[in-house]
Amino acid sequence: MKRFDIMTLFPDLVERVLGESIIGRAQESGAITVKVWNIRDYSKDKHRRVDDTPYGGGRGMLMMAPPIYDCYCAILEDEPCEPERTRRIYMSPQGRVLNQSLAREYAGGYDRFIILCGHYEGVDRRIIDEIIDEEVSLGDFVLTGGEIPACVLVDCVSRLCEGVLADPECYDKESFSDGRLEYPQYTRPYEFHGVKVPDVLISGHHANIDKWRDEMSLAETEKKRPDLLGAEKGESNA
Ligand code: SAM
Repeated sequence: MKRFDIMTLFPDLVERVLGESIIGRAQESGAITVKVWNIRDYSKDKHRRVDDTPYGGGRGMLMMAPPIYDCYCAILEDEPCEPERTRRIYMSPQGRVLNQSLAREYAGGYDRFIILCGHYEGVDRRIIDEIIDEEVSLGDFVLTGGEIPACVLVDCVSRLCEGVLADPECYDKESFSDGRLEYPQYTRPYEFHGVKVPDVLISGHHANIDKWRDEMSLAETEKKRPDLLGAEKGESNA
């Protein structure tokens, strides 16, 4: 069972996203636990302030270290963590870019994730240095906050955990599972706008279906993401 503790200034946003669909059901069934912590609850300021202007001047506001640190301490008090099985992550555009290989590394290597979401211009550097193991990015672009990236991280790690998906084959054979994209899929109706489902898929011949899917998976990857095929030679990490 995995547990995710998420520190944020916008708890409703995170709870709403992670409360829906498969991840919502995984929480209900106990396959994963998600606890969302409001950093503002740990502000000692009478106006519950959590940010201030950066030293040295410059644009915007920065999240202050003390409320984040007190929130972090409350998380550890709520449930102490085993350091080797815990990953403390700051969602940041400066981090290691999230991909399926990192999701697998996290799902296989850790049971507990403590995730910090930044907002405004980010967080005071000293809190990163003190409580964070790794910064993780969604990609080379800048978002307004770490909440959406945190939800993405929880989603892609959770679906690799036991009991979250009904059938583990779902992730055995999907895109990136073996460094390729998935083959094209079809469902009813048999004919849509004049286009029929490929004959092989209704042949009932499983060996031929597997062969077709393998060829199509390779063709899709060559067409859309040729860089992934370099991964087989160690040139990419998807
Ligand atoms: N001033 C920061 C910089 O230039 O690196 C950007 C701060 S950003 C506007 C506010 C917050 O959004 C960050 O603290 C981070 O938590 C989150 N964020 C923004 N882009 C992200 C990305 N690509 N991946 C993960 N988190 C991101």
